Amino acid sequence: MALLRVRHCRALLYCRRAPPRCPACGGDLRAAGLAAAPVRLRCPFRHGHGQPHAFLIRPSRGTFLHDYRGHCDLHVGITNSRGLVYNYDQEGVHRAASGWEQCISIPLVQPDMWELLQHWDNLLEEFSLEEAWLPHRYEEQQHNCYTFALAFVNRVRQARGRAALSKGEFTQRFLLPHTSEASRYLALQQQLQHSDVYVVPLAEQQHHSGAGSHSLLE
Ligand SMILES: [Zn+2]
Repeated sequence: MALLRVRHCRALLYCRRAPPRCPACGGDLRAAGLAAAPVRLRCPFRHGHGQPHAFLIRPSRGTFLHDYRGHCDLHVGITNSRGLVYNYDQEGVHRAASGWEQCISIPLVQPDMWELLQHWDNLLEEFSLEEAWLPHRYEEQQHNCYTFALAFVNRVRQARGRAALSKGEFTQRFLLPHTSEASRYLALQQQLQHSDVYVVPLAEQQHHSGAGSHSLLE
């Protein structure tokens, strides 16, 4: 169901359906004009198998919208050109054609990188056959799904003459903008399970927008 945001007086109102009156000031929202028109928030989750050449994140069990409660194990993978998700766990590398239907998706390749696009599937397949990704090498903290996906990203970067990214750099620069958006969306979803309208005073918006930004991957 859609999530809407309405801006009125000194507040942002989040709701499923715009109320007739502003719960912050009591004013008539229908008379408030374009400035108070509801804006539909973009759902941050994507069907992962329809996202080629991407870094995908999903909960290890269940889905973000139904099961995620702030802290749970996450699993990551990389898609090839056909949306097959290469992901590493204690059983080795999987090439999944299902199970990634609701993901945070981070595109890795720009459309003008045509040479990389041509070789992507072979690079990913060959990389996943390397000895480092045999089942017995798996280690929950230090050599896991994230190690696999980041090592592939770095392999591609280095082949293009770019510096490898540390886990911290990758998380900060590429993942956090997406995971914080997803955290905010899920937090609003949860608020709206208990009330019809969730009011955020504009003065708190700054603080609010950073809430939960470290809970997904740190
Ligand atoms: Zn108001």
